[in-house]
Amino acid sequence: MNIIIDRLVKPLFVSVVMLTLTTSASFADHHQSSPSFTEVQVTSNILMLQGKGGNLALLSGGQGLVLVDDDYQEMSAALTDAIADNGGLDKLTYIINTHWHGDHTGGNLALGGHATIVAHDNVRTRLLSAQEIKLFNMKSEPYPEQALPSVTYTSSLSLHINEEHVELIHLANGHTDGDSVVFFKNANVVHMGDHFFNGMFPFVDVGTGGNVFTLTDNIDRVLDLIDENTKVIPGHGPLANKKDLQDFHTMLVATSSSVKMMAGKGQSLDQIQAAGLGAQWSSWTKGVLSEDVWISIIHNSL
Ligand SMILES: [Zn+2]
Repeated sequence: MNIIIDRLVKPLFVSVVMLTLTTSASFADHHQSSPSFTEVQVTSNILMLQGKGGNLALLSGGQGLVLVDDDYQEMSAALTDAIADNGGLDKLTYIINTHWHGDHTGGNLALGGHATIVAHDNVRTRLLSAQEIKLFNMKSEPYPEQALPSVTYTSSLSLHINEEHVELIHLANGHTDGDSVVFFKNANVVHMGDHFFNGMFPFVDVGTGGNVFTLTDNIDRVLDLIDENTKVIPGHGPLANKKDLQDFHTMLVATSSSVKMMAGKGQSLDQIQAAGLGAQWSSWTKGVLSEDVWISIIHNSL
């Protein structure tokens, strides 16, 4: 299983980042060091943990710990250490998977026996069978039972713990077909999963039900649900606020409509990539994807 999961998760962001984005010092540093987590205090009882894959959130309190996403499997020892600093695995009550990708669910294998895993219906369905991300030529094998979500939902689900109302809302066909956005309503914090890559072109997994245009509409919906004081945890990138999410939405609208317009005039993908998106979006390549790959994902979403 170690080999299987390593194959599943390793190439996605680590190799892409290293090959194409070595200019980003903070991102590169973040991904090359020995396994450990950086802790960002979001509120008095919520931490953002940054390891190698997607960002994690950890809610602490007397009734137990709630973990949102659990990084690559290879990070599980480091994650166990981070959890030990905050009460230990015995206190781990719920793990929420925002979607099926291995850089958000790899820790299920080591930690699933200690907590109830919660996710959208389609996350369990996908993890039950072999999956593929064609863009990165990645294949994954089915997860064993103890690493699967045992509580699943269709449109929304609430957890009540530590005097907090944790609300999961399914946003359909955004990054994948099984995305949850997780609101900590009393703390005014939201974990966006991979609906939000802060300051960079996002990977959208069109092959497993994601779509750039639907994702853009979904972000619009979230913007209506948060305010200027909301702490916004992105799937990738630094801790954000509503303004950062609005900037991301503005980029999505502008770049996707530009590609749609060029395609509508009969231009091929090669021609659109050659024309480009314009200099004002060049800084958004500092993350995971080049402009050409981002254009191809938009094109695939048409
Ligand atoms: Zn993802």
